[in-house]
Amino acid sequence: MKTVFTVDIDEVLAEYVDTFLRWNWQVYGGPILDREDMDQYDMSDKMGLSRVEFYRRITQFEEQGRLRTLSPRPGAAEGIQDLLDLDFDVQFVTNRHPRNHLDTRRWINENMPYGTGQIWYAWKKPKGVVIDELGAAYHIDDSLKNCKSTHEWGAESFLLDCPWNRDKELEEGIIRVYNWSDVIKYVRDNRTVDPR
Ligand SMILES: [Mg+2]
Repeated sequence: MKTVFTVDIDEVLAEYVDTFLRWNWQVYGGPILDREDMDQYDMSDKMGLSRVEFYRRITQFEEQGRLRTLSPRPGAAEGIQDLLDLDFDVQFVTNRHPRNHLDTRRWINENMPYGTGQIWYAWKKPKGVVIDELGAAYHIDDSLKNCKSTHEWGAESFLLDCPWNRDKELEEGIIRVYNWSDVIKYVRDNRTVDPR
């Protein structure tokens, strides 16, 4: 059996935050913000919005099909290809709402290398529970909360450095990485299960 490596989608593979902020500015105006302005995972505060209004705009953005327009993050497609070349079973675990499945599947098909696996929705369920069901040995995410959860459930967990997790202390066993090359280097150097 191949070793399962689960991968978060937004901000690990896809540029969600900047695309959403640009769209928001075009539709609603207000201050020009980008991902570097976001010092916490919840963007509503920095945008000066109530959480209800913030999530209403997120829903509007997604319902307009904007998820199909996201650019891949630098190095992401190459990183996924490297994981496939190392013979990992690559699957995706996202906190997106499952109603976005068609757009999500299409985006993965168009932007990520052929040979990747299924998409799972950690919707109202901690990511740790989902990765445990999949038997994942490794997980990568930009949310420290998700990394804590996947680490707790047994996956070696990589936190991709982002403005909203930069000042956070990491507990032992969660590995901060700065780009996809760091991830590939780490698994090459530390992998205990040989590719078959
Ligand atoms: Mg994410």
